[in-house]
Amino acid sequence: MKLFRLMTYSLPLVALLWLPSSSVAQGAAQKPCGCTNQDKADLEQRIKRVEAAMKEYDALVQEWERKEKGTGESLLLNPTFRKSVQDSVWFKMKNIKIRNAVDYKAETDATCKVTIDPAASACLRGSLEDHEAVHKKECDKNKEKDLIDWRFTQRVVDYMKEEKAGYQKELERLNDELNKQKNCPKLDRSAQQLLEQAAAQQKRLDQAQSRVGKYTKSLK
Ligand SMILES: [Zn+2]
Repeated sequence: MKLFRLMTYSLPLVALLWLPSSSVAQGAAQKPCGCTNQDKADLEQRIKRVEAAMKEYDALVQEWERKEKGTGESLLLNPTFRKSVQDSVWFKMKNIKIRNAVDYKAETDATCKVTIDPAASACLRGSLEDHEAVHKKECDKNKEKDLIDWRFTQRVVDYMKEEKAGYQKELERLNDELNKQKNCPKLDRSAQQLLEQAAAQQKRLDQAQSRVGKYTKSLK
């Protein structure tokens, strides 16, 4: 009886949880990009961070072009230069924080293998894939050179331009995802809380049903 009442109350709310997905899930187990506050915060933070990264790369390209003019030769990437460039970009990015927002990592290694954090949400996964696709394309063009790391034959300036292009692709996808979220119903704080409570209630309900199922079985 109690179970029944619980179901009647929680169903309309639970139905709200299954809002139309705004993007196709990448993997079967991946939840689609949804209308949650978490997804919104993640997208907004990542967009701001990506914009900051692109701005920093612009400044760094100018700086390194000046250095090249000064020395009169091409400055090629090496682990020290790469770290220095990545550190100054990350310094700008990490200062941008939106409450509860999560960021995920992705990389393309010297063999052109792309790795995306398996925990990445559906909202951010696509944009990370688009970013890494830029590196993979460049990597595939160069890997025939049969070097341990072809990157160290690349000009620092070209490496930074490639990064900026990656962030540009990423930004386009992030803005697409955020625009799709405009179709989500407006949820105020209390509605969001209700949704979260409904999800927790549904979980308890599922557990209760499975307990009832086991009990019924044992009665037979
Ligand atoms: Zn990159």
